[in-house]
Amino acid sequence: MSGGDKIDFEIRPSAAPVSAAERAAMVANPGFGRIFTDHMAIVRYAEGKGWYDARVEARAPLPMDPASAVLHYAQEIFEGLKAYPTPDGGVAMFRPDANAARFAQSAARMAMPVVPTELFLASLREIITIDREWMPDSEDGSLYLRPFAFASEVFLGVRPAMEYLYLVIASPVGPYFAGGVQPVSVWVSPDFTRAAPGGTGAAKCGGNYAAGLSAQAEAIAHDCEQVVYLDAVQRTYVDELGGMNVMFVMDDGSLVTPPLSGTILPGITRDSVLRLAERSGRAVQERPVGFDEWRTGAASGRIREVFACGTAAVITPIGTVRHPGGEFTVADGGPGEVTMGLRQELVDIQRGRADDPFGWVHRVR
Ligand SMILES: *Cc1c(COP(=O)(O)O)cnc(C)c1O
Repeated sequence: MSGGDKIDFEIRPSAAPVSAAERAAMVANPGFGRIFTDHMAIVRYAEGKGWYDARVEARAPLPMDPASAVLHYAQEIFEGLKAYPTPDGGVAMFRPDANAARFAQSAARMAMPVVPTELFLASLREIITIDREWMPDSEDGSLYLRPFAFASEVFLGVRPAMEYLYLVIASPVGPYFAGGVQPVSVWVSPDFTRAAPGGTGAAKCGGNYAAGLSAQAEAIAHDCEQVVYLDAVQRTYVDELGGMNVMFVMDDGSLVTPPLSGTILPGITRDSVLRLAERSGRAVQERPVGFDEWRTGAASGRIREVFACGTAAVITPIGTVRHPGGEFTVADGGPGEVTMGLRQELVDIQRGRADDPFGWVHRVR
């Protein structure tokens, strides 16, 4: 497919969907990323032919040749976004156009073909429509959508592949934190970095996560839930968490977050929070924050609250900060007022309970 050509999905409903009773039992307590809907969207790509053979079909294992390029050189990218039930019984996605744009940027960085925005959005709409019944009806549930693409060409030479698959799978999810918003404890890794200038830090690719698993294990070994990465050059400035961006609330009420310098992932939640804060008159600064500034700001009271943000958990307060030299908390380490206020504002827009001044919410039905 070239340019804006339209591509329609052939719909092949599953011959053996999960029964309504079984589905209800699964969706009642879904956890995160554990259960999946009946269908998937799948589109093929070949060099010279473009995207073709778009289908929605029963979710099933993918037959793969052991020489498929992705298994060797990790040419793979993904996205993550949520669809929410709306108060009037409909379904809405939150900023899917932003995910489409980021997916295209990730593809460019990984020398992969771009999935056109229209195809990307259509694949999401098709999955939501066919698997609508999997949407949790709870106050805090949603349908997590996972678009991804990878090199499927059977070839061991090192160059961008000439064949790819693009898929979307969907997973009903509950609140990320059962029992309310809990602060996460973080480990500031002295050994591992996440991304260097010129690297793939701004691309949402599986390789970044693979490279972070040792650091995550180190965090767990230090009794922390998440890793904080410092910049790879000076080991001084705060980049982000393994899968969430980080924000600081200062004593003058301003919001400070590290800039998009190429080593951090441009989070859509990050962008949404910045724009909401600006809209309500809060000063916002994108600038480097040294780990020392964090530590001394916590001690002096200059920094009042710190939180992490990303699609899965939305906004999560950061509690204990542990590092090789000791540990500290910002204020009492509990959820701060500004943090929880921004969280509520964002969740209300996502769920169609508040006005949507930026046009972020896309109705599907
Ligand atoms: C996906 C991701 C985020 C958060 O991005 P959102 O669009 O807000 O979900 C932050 N950091 C990393 C490394 C990520 O992969």
